[in-house]
Amino acid sequence: SKRLYRWKRVLLKVSGEALAGNHTENIDPKITMAIAREVASVTKLGVEVAIVVGGGNIFRGASWAGCSGLDRSSADYIGMLATVMNAIFLQATMESIGIPTRVQTAFRMSEVAEPYIRRRAVRHLEKGRVVIFAAGTGNPFFTTDTAAALRCAEINAEVMLKATNVDGVYDADPRHNPNARLLETVSYHEVTTRDLSVMDMTAITLCQENNIPIVVFNLQKTGNIAKAIVGEKVGTFIGC
Ligand code: UDP
Repeated sequence: SKRLYRWKRVLLKVSGEALAGNHTENIDPKITMAIAREVASVTKLGVEVAIVVGGGNIFRGASWAGCSGLDRSSADYIGMLATVMNAIFLQATMESIGIPTRVQTAFRMSEVAEPYIRRRAVRHLEKGRVVIFAAGTGNPFFTTDTAAALRCAEINAEVMLKATNVDGVYDADPRHNPNARLLETVSYHEVTTRDLSVMDMTAITLCQENNIPIVVFNLQKTGNIAKAIVGEKVGTFIGC
């Protein structure tokens, strides 16, 4: 088989930008459906899937802070609320095709979703449910990439699968440099010292300290999510 890894439990990070695709609205329902279908195809194989969703398609705290007197913490809370919208959209899509899915939020919104309870999240996963973690870490000044690294460590997921709109990690910015090469594997050290802009420093060091490998891949290519989850070669592998 083409499987390089046999993950038992994975953490899939889907950014808000990835959910938006090229759609004029904040969310492209074709993308959420594609995610749902691919996740459905692999949960059948017994891989446990937890998801952390971003919110950048709707609101980014850092870019709003400073404007019209908005302080950073307030802006970040709005950003965290944006991730809850994405989470509920994704949950509804998943359940429309029969995947049992729970949303857990980092701060309480009990009428809308469960609060984050680590042991309960793990139990859901063991029962074959997909768990979507929303509202990031629940703290301003953090990102959903950091939330993904944190949840990954907490629930003992073996890998963080970062779905993006690019094919992986390049040695230069492919938008500006036509000679930029896609890297197959790269170390945490290289990512941080060469400033390869994979994710923020807090997130990458949290993964490094906890030996969580990261796979960065393009979600716009059909089949990639399923490939990443079952451990086939896709995108860039970050580890060691
Ligand atoms: N955010 C936060 N704390 C967290 C996670 C997210 O304050 O732990 C806020 C922050 O304002 C961020 C926004 O939520 O800009 C959306 O998250 P993010 O930018 O990470 O989403 P993505 O880039 O993955 O779409």
